[in-house]
Amino acid sequence: MRTPYIAGNWKMHMNRAEARDLAAQLRELLAPVKHRIMVAPPFTAIETVAVTLQGSNIMVGAQNMAPALNGAHTGEISPLMLKDAGATVVILGHSERRHSYGEGDGLINEKVHLALQEGLEVILCVGETLEEREAGRVDAVVEEQLAGGLREIGASLLPRVTIAYEPVWAIGTGKTATPDDADSVHGTIRRIFTELYNSEEAEKIVIQYGGSVKPDNVKGLMSRDNIDGALVGGASLKVDSFGPIVQFNS
Ligand code: PEP
Repeated sequence: MRTPYIAGNWKMHMNRAEARDLAAQLRELLAPVKHRIMVAPPFTAIETVAVTLQGSNIMVGAQNMAPALNGAHTGEISPLMLKDAGATVVILGHSERRHSYGEGDGLINEKVHLALQEGLEVILCVGETLEEREAGRVDAVVEEQLAGGLREIGASLLPRVTIAYEPVWAIGTGKTATPDDADSVHGTIRRIFTELYNSEEAEKIVIQYGGSVKPDNVKGLMSRDNIDGALVGGASLKVDSFGPIVQFNS
């Protein structure tokens, strides 16, 4: 039985005061929720949000990290620093990192290894561009990103890994994959897990959908067998939209 998992990616939004305010409102509203919840503020607000959410049912994550613990890496953030600030989760391979900052599967795999070694949970994002979808390459792209991102990650580490399927053409565009389309790719992801690991791991792996998830489409998505959660961007910035998304089943 997979526990639903809803995560909010605040991207490059929120100063510390705004972040504290939103976190405090979410803490109160979402206290009765039984499934897993995470918010990923920008680096500068992680500590503030972690303090605000201490002892609550909402985890704090980061949106990226360096593939190194310390050293001459100007402008980068180490997993040690993320943990020190209070993060327990990190989002890796987000399409904005892949497509705006040129991150490839090799680099993402290094980060996945280091994050897991350091005891963080990982949300590994995969997903095709519109061009790749139109060329009929959805399965091939997702397979390449999963095999590359999870290279030499042993099955014993998978309880700390979540996959987010985020079709690039649906992120921040208002276009959502239909529940049928998303469920079908999530089914493909489970098949790929059977090949990379085994059918037991494929059954257990939690797969979030991401791409313009809103209060009015979350129920339809979450009702599908293979969709276990959501990674939410724009709609995670307001309690009025993130609240109802997290409470999709109440
Ligand atoms: C995201 O940033 O991962 C995302 C899915 O964004 P949005 O919900 O705004 O499409």
